[in-house]
Amino acid sequence: MLIDGHGRKVNYLRVSVTERCNFRCQYCMPEKPFSWVPKENLLSFEELFLFIKVGIDEGIDKIRITGGEPLLRTGLDKFIKMINDYKSGLDIALTTNGYLLAGVAQDLKDAGLKRINVSLDTLKDDVAAKISGKDVLKKVKEGIAKAQEIGLGVKINNVPLKGINADEIIEVLEYCKERNMPIRFIEYMENKHANDKLEGLSEEEVKQKIATKYNFTEVKREGASPSKMYEFDDGYRFGIINPHAHDFCEDCNRIRLTAEGVLIPCLYFEEALSIKKAVKAGDVAGAAEVLKEVLRNKPEKNKWSSDEENETSDRAFYETGG
Ligand code: SAM
Ligand code: SF4
Repeated sequence: MLIDGHGRKVNYLRVSVTERCNFRCQYCMPEKPFSWVPKENLLSFEELFLFIKVGIDEGIDKIRITGGEPLLRTGLDKFIKMINDYKSGLDIALTTNGYLLAGVAQDLKDAGLKRINVSLDTLKDDVAAKISGKDVLKKVKEGIAKAQEIGLGVKINNVPLKGINADEIIEVLEYCKERNMPIRFIEYMENKHANDKLEGLSEEEVKQKIATKYNFTEVKREGASPSKMYEFDDGYRFGIINPHAHDFCEDCNRIRLTAEGVLIPCLYFEEALSIKKAVKAGDVAGAAEVLKEVLRNKPEKNKWSSDEENETSDRAFYETGG
């Protein structure tokens, strides 16, 4: 079992397989980064897998593949199969913008993928284009429909932004409810790579909007999920992730690996160590030592706050995978 320096059990690894993306979301990378990491600097799937095996042997049982846009990396289904074949019962999930999903959903499921999170910030074509930089909504919705049709668990992520998509919270919620898909509203996390004019809705503001039409009560969090959960009278549940309150940090069970092999203990901070040298040398013990050291140094909590003077992270979401 993996335990960090604050006594928290860590069983969840998020793996970003690429920082590249076919969208330019306002809150993530409104401009293409000055230069992408050259492909030769990325770890191969075999190298990433070497580390993942170390993590699984030590107690990781939940793996989420993310990015950038993970579906841009070819051979993702084979990567998922490698992980799935290594140990039965692993919870393997993917976070995607959904644009390329319809064409690959079945292959991913056949490879062992159990669940996906799709980012759906709006149901309006023009707003989707404004947020992501191109006309994407039709294909994203097709991807969601296909994934549901073939029996993948689908959850929706939504980042409500003032003056952009905040007036659609109820519509998006109802779209999800009608399709029996859970939705998580994620408070916008300020970071140096985003459009600096953005203002996110707070958890309280999201709740107020939903309360104009529905009754709901807070229910227990699901495991170590950062999401606070709310339930409608008819049993449908939605979640809100509020990183500004830090109230989920005390149960934080996750670490993040970037496509270049940087192992990151917390989404907010720059501190991290590389596993690249170890995996390139096939050094399992070395990789395990880096993992343990990162866990020893995992910070107690992030620094986003609810104060007027909000903190801004240097970390890019397209590197860490969110
Ligand atoms: N490209 C995929 C996608 O968009 O779903 C996976 C990577 S993306 C970085 C993962 C999640 O992070 C998405 O749900 C996205 O909405 C969220 N995200 C990105 N930047 C964010 C920010 N500044 N604040 C809150 N959530 C953010
Ligand atoms: Fe791409 Fe996802 Fe970032 Fe949007 S949030 S730019 S889809 S990586």
